[in-house]
Amino acid sequence: MKRNHDNAVGISREEILNINSSAIIFDMHIDPLVQATLFGYEIEKEHSLDWKPEFWKNRWAWVLFREIVYHDCNNPLFNHVDLFRMRRGGYNGAAFGMVCSPDATDILINIFSTLDIFEKMDIEVDAETIGENFEKSGLSKWLAAIWTSNKGALANQLAKFHELVKDESFIQAKTPEDVYQAKEDSKIAGFPGVEGVHCLQGSQEEQFRQIETLFNDGGVRYITLHHLTGNDAGECGYCPLAPTDEETCLKEFGKQVVRKMHQVGMMVDLAHTNKGGILDACAVQDRLNEEIRKINPGEEHLSIPLIASHTACRAAFEEINSNNGIKLEDYSLRKQHAYFRGLHEASISAIARTGGVIGVMLSPFSLRGEHKGGLEDVAKHVLKIKEIIDDDTECAFKGEDCIAFGSDFDGWIPSIPTGMKDASSLGLLTEALLKAKLHSDVIKKMYGQNFLRAWGDALKAAEKLRALGLTGETQK
Ligand SMILES: [Zn+2]
Repeated sequence: MKRNHDNAVGISREEILNINSSAIIFDMHIDPLVQATLFGYEIEKEHSLDWKPEFWKNRWAWVLFREIVYHDCNNPLFNHVDLFRMRRGGYNGAAFGMVCSPDATDILINIFSTLDIFEKMDIEVDAETIGENFEKSGLSKWLAAIWTSNKGALANQLAKFHELVKDESFIQAKTPEDVYQAKEDSKIAGFPGVEGVHCLQGSQEEQFRQIETLFNDGGVRYITLHHLTGNDAGECGYCPLAPTDEETCLKEFGKQVVRKMHQVGMMVDLAHTNKGGILDACAVQDRLNEEIRKINPGEEHLSIPLIASHTACRAAFEEINSNNGIKLEDYSLRKQHAYFRGLHEASISAIARTGGVIGVMLSPFSLRGEHKGGLEDVAKHVLKIKEIIDDDTECAFKGEDCIAFGSDFDGWIPSIPTGMKDASSLGLLTEALLKAKLHSDVIKKMYGQNFLRAWGDALKAAEKLRALGLTGETQK
């Protein structure tokens, strides 16, 4: 007789398949557009794990990072997603990340990776001093500047996205309904998302116009306030080398950008923002609600969901590490940096109170500060985020309605969880979540329902703001 159970806790392959095929699976953040621009990666074609770019297409970067620096990591950095492997994993859609300057990313990651190279050669480096010098030398400002000035990068990635739209197995998701339709039609749906408002150019007025153009013409549906550097909006939450200040508030420009995005229906993504910035960004709608009540005193409170598309949970990171007997102060500087990539409890609560969602990454480095780690860590982060929200008595939303999925596949993450090959291995994540005793209905919410609900709510809120005529700057 054929055995039905594949592991000790009695989770059958059928059960996993059933969840992955019946759930609507939307990954809030994947980055193949960067590889499409850098290496000529063709997202619509199937790739094997030993695929390499052609010799003249930045092959050196591929070889240096994938085969030298991170050679002992599980499928490092990129080549995790294409439409074929996504479909095999049960995907129905994804947000396709775009960064402003892959050139600057190269430089940054270069510097960052130097630490890995030193570590491998057993050479002790004072990373803190490097970090301080990096800041003092003005290098971080210079990086931010070239990052911002590289206008072509964003346009190139956007062009790649619109090439993808021509593929018959792909549809552009302009609304959540398009994702549900894609599932019906066995297609993959997606929209582009921008990392960092420093991608916007010119005066405030011009930048606001660009948000509208990116939404209407580009099809962009979210913008993160930051990427790997601070900018005119405020501080980033995780800078690879330069120290970041957690409590720094959002600048006035940052608040105005959040307000503008709310009005346009462009989701505000806080995946890379510091704690102070996250709390301020979530509070922008309090001011909007005050203005609404001035216009219409009987109006109900308007919740405008903000999201964190690909992130982690700091408390879970701590739990995973203290279970291993490691104290926070004993972390290496790199591990401390990884820790800051995760959201603070207050940030998780603030996002959940807006009805927003928090997507957990599939990067062991962000989940536990090491290059090796299994899918049980992902489950721990998901459960901890759920618990923090459930424990927040001021939050009108339940934890199971705010957890989400944002792998960061192809996002230059040093490794993916042990056992996974690529996006096609998503069944293993389902298995890990079931083992962690997450109910199948909750897993389905996490995979896509929650995000699609939050997206729909953000669009409805934008309509409401426009109907009330709240389209100007904050009234002082
Ligand atoms: Zn990112």
